[in-house]
Amino acid sequence: MHELSIAMGIIKIAEEETKKANKTKVELIELEIGSLAGVELESLNYVWATATKGTVLEKAELEIDYKIAQARCLECKTLYEMEKVYDSCPKCNSFFKEIIQGKELRVKSLEVN
Ligand SMILES: [Zn+2]
Repeated sequence: MHELSIAMGIIKIAEEETKKANKTKVELIELEIGSLAGVELESLNYVWATATKGTVLEKAELEIDYKIAQARCLECKTLYEMEKVYDSCPKCNSFFKEIIQGKELRVKSLEVN
């Protein structure tokens, strides 16, 4: 499952950071996930408990900062929210746009102990 490999990647980052800080566990982890990142939050939550078992993240509180994708139309400069990558500008219907946010998939913060 795609979300499982994402969880494994996050665990690896958390283990490295915890080790660097000379600590043994993570209290809180905050992830930033964009709506275009291709992550299903439900699936991620589903695999999370199993994946983190026996790792530094086992007892960590998981917080997700979900970013709705935003684009700026290259024709009329309107800023709009997108649900799908191929959404067009609500004002002029142009498909030409610059994606401002929505592809994030990263560890935003970690509290170790
Ligand atoms: Zn437009």
